[in-house]
Amino acid sequence: MTSARTRERLIGRLREQGIRDEQTLAALSAIPRHLFVDEALASRAYEDTALPIGHGQTISQPYIVARMTAALRASGPLERVLEIGTGSGYQAAVLARLAGHLYTVERIAGLVRAARQRFQMLRLANISVRHADGCEGWPEEAPFDAIIVTAAARTVPTTLFSQLKEGGRLVVPVGGDGQELLLYRRRGTAVSFERLEAVNFVPLLPGGIV
Ligand code: SAH
Repeated sequence: MTSARTRERLIGRLREQGIRDEQTLAALSAIPRHLFVDEALASRAYEDTALPIGHGQTISQPYIVARMTAALRASGPLERVLEIGTGSGYQAAVLARLAGHLYTVERIAGLVRAARQRFQMLRLANISVRHADGCEGWPEEAPFDAIIVTAAARTVPTTLFSQLKEGGRLVVPVGGDGQELLLYRRRGTAVSFERLEAVNFVPLLPGGIV
């Protein structure tokens, strides 16, 4: 079922799980997640679970998408936002509802192509997609108010910190088998962070595109 009612049930669950930011919830409610997965999985698109999107990758669990989005919204402006790990494009589409412009980088060509088609179909005109190694960020478009990494980094590429504005935030899952979602903030040359929660993302793979 991909009806509005099924979608609203998911929003209700996210609210119960502690997502309080109405704008974040409205953005998730506005983006049809079933269009970001294979037709065969569309009936499961409004379950609060990660789902396979091919190439050994996954579309994140809606709760995690909401949590990361709300954390970025609560901590400052979202005029220019960079995402590393486009995947299906779902997180980018949700953030684009709340951002001035959303830049997103993906290393797998097939995923870039599919995501671009979805953004066109949904007329999300404030998203730019690049097929590149996200560990390099997007230097030509930097600096950003916020950066979101949707793959787990063993160590956060320092290049990404250098592409943040003063006061800019970076949300990223860090670790290998056990991962934590961290929210960094840049102040001058210093970087502070807070821990958000335990998570389980596919790895950020440095070096090279496919
Ligand atoms: N945000 C996505 C989920 C991403 S899954 C969504 O909403 O669907 C993680 C993605 O990060 C995968 O597509 C993977 O190919 C990508 N990725 C991993 N390492 C990367 C890198 N170095 N540069 C760019 N993308 C990378």
